[in-house]
Amino acid sequence: MVTTEEVGRVGVFADLDPAAHERLAGVAADISLAPGEYAAHQGDDRALFGLLEGRIEPVKLVDGIERVVGERVPGDIFGEVPIVLGTVFPVGFRAAEASRIMRIEAHDYHAVAAGTPDLAEEIGKLARHRMGGSRGLQGLAAEPPPPRAVVLGHRWDASCTELRRFLDRNQVTFKWLTPETPNLEEEWNGPLPGGQDWPVIKVVDGKTVIRPHLRRVAELLGLGTEAIAAEYDTVIVGGGPAGLAAAVYAASEGLRTIVVEREAPGGQAGTSARIENYLGFPSGVSGDELGSRALQQARRLGAEILVTRSIGRIDAATRQVHLDGGDVIRARTIILACGVAWRRLSVEGFDRLAGKGISYGASRGEAPNTHGLDVHIVGTGNSAGQSALSFSTHARSVTILCRGDRLEKSMSRYLIDQIATRPNIRTLLRTEVAAAHGDLSLEAIDVRDSTTDETTRLESGGLFIFIGADAETEWLPPEIALDHKGFVLTGSDMRAADQWTLDRDPYLLETSVPGIFACGDVRLGSMKRVAAAVGEGSMAVAFVHQYLKEPEVAATPAAAG
Ligand SMILES: Cc1cc2nc3c(=O)[nH]c(=O)nc-3n(C[C@H](O)[C@H](O)[C@H](O)COP(=O)(O)OP(=O)(O)OC[C@H]3O[C@@H](n4cnc5c(N)ncnc54)[C@H](O)[C@@H]3O)c2cc1C
Repeated sequence: MVTTEEVGRVGVFADLDPAAHERLAGVAADISLAPGEYAAHQGDDRALFGLLEGRIEPVKLVDGIERVVGERVPGDIFGEVPIVLGTVFPVGFRAAEASRIMRIEAHDYHAVAAGTPDLAEEIGKLARHRMGGSRGLQGLAAEPPPPRAVVLGHRWDASCTELRRFLDRNQVTFKWLTPETPNLEEEWNGPLPGGQDWPVIKVVDGKTVIRPHLRRVAELLGLGTEAIAAEYDTVIVGGGPAGLAAAVYAASEGLRTIVVEREAPGGQAGTSARIENYLGFPSGVSGDELGSRALQQARRLGAEILVTRSIGRIDAATRQVHLDGGDVIRARTIILACGVAWRRLSVEGFDRLAGKGISYGASRGEAPNTHGLDVHIVGTGNSAGQSALSFSTHARSVTILCRGDRLEKSMSRYLIDQIATRPNIRTLLRTEVAAAHGDLSLEAIDVRDSTTDETTRLESGGLFIFIGADAETEWLPPEIALDHKGFVLTGSDMRAADQWTLDRDPYLLETSVPGIFACGDVRLGSMKRVAAAVGEGSMAVAFVHQYLKEPEVAATPAAAG
């Protein structure tokens, strides 16, 4: 318990009268922290803390990396900014050594402050001081996050586009230099590698690699690529919303958990410019922010996340999971959260110009690259609408090519309404793209009006294709039942297809192989929404627990090898 003497040793409380000391001591929680443990995470609800023993570091997450931005010693307080502003913690507070702190809940603080105006004034003064100046929160906000890497590459080089997309999706801040960048050598900080070696990546304070493979980039940047253990309670295939939700629940409930993601965490949602309908984000949230928060949460709770690794084979009998490159991990249960992949358009010129102005989907970071250009979008779903809005803040014009006679058939009303307010977005109805032209990069497209059958050539600085997606499940073992389009059958759908052999009923998200579950977009009958994927990912873990409790499974602590 915190004593009144200890309360009096905290600077801002020192001059309060003994009754106030007693009130604070009466409500303060006495918390001991091991080194590395957090008193409050960035984004946590407000509370006021006093440091009694040890040392605490404020930590700001920049680019997914924790940066220490100050220090608190015994007698200091922290949490005054969120308490005064009524916000969440703008930075986290972590014990740099074994520490003891007192925590006062916001309502207790306000109750004491109401009767002690001097206290409220002192805390207010301290909060102002912490926010102002170059070393305060204002300085932190003004300082751009330093790039973690510099990329040198041509705008229309497909491997450079792939590299930039990968860095974007892994939330790595980087500086991109092209031959057009002024003072290129100075910016690169050394002699330029020959053009035949581009793209080149230079990791700040690290190595430079020419024409890098994404796996190598992940290794250089310290993104996980190798499994630490040989076996896991659950192996999650895919790091989209469903996989990350499953990881959060599984890891927090004590299961040894690994997520294997072939590209970057976030899945399709990570490419969405703004998700407007996810509960709890009244002004919408960008897909990459949602993905990055989920990733931090899953990691903090103990899930291992591998990127740039794909699962190419599962042995249904032994539960061995084969990663690309030949590594094998063993799983007591498996959660398939591998979503869907963009459908490709088979049109003249498309394959040759893919990555050179033609893109399937678009990451949020893509919008600035359309600056001043006339860009075109194929597709009329919500993802196409969101991207049109995002591009319209940079591009000179955005044209949506719609095969049908109205957008309403496939796009939500709120997006259509927002599009109507942007003068630089237009929609061509009953129009199909017929060909793409360009030598080094996309220069123009041919579009055909299906009413008149007339073809027109339009100059184009970028063509983005959003025409739906397919399940890519051909690699799954034959024991896992699929529908004719490759979606995974689960629960009653699978039972109805006569694919179940056990006496007990299958769990709702269980596939035809007991102990292997499917959730999110890859599952037949799923809603194809972020919230649905998150819900299913979380539910899958409840079924994993039930499965692991079955007597014959519980008797086998690890998968057979
Ligand atoms: C541009 C865009 C905008 C959208 N906007 C919205 C919106 O506003 N609101 C909404 O509710 N929904 C939206 N959606 C839909 C939503 O994003 C999806 O429903 C959701 O992402 C599905 O989540 P998931 O985890 O099931 O699959 P995915 O998000 O597809 O994730 C699957 C992951 O698995 C990985 N993977 C696949 N196979 C393997 C393998 N063999 N090994 C390892 N990894 C593998 C993939 O790389 C991928 O990262 C949008 C989708 C897009 C594309």
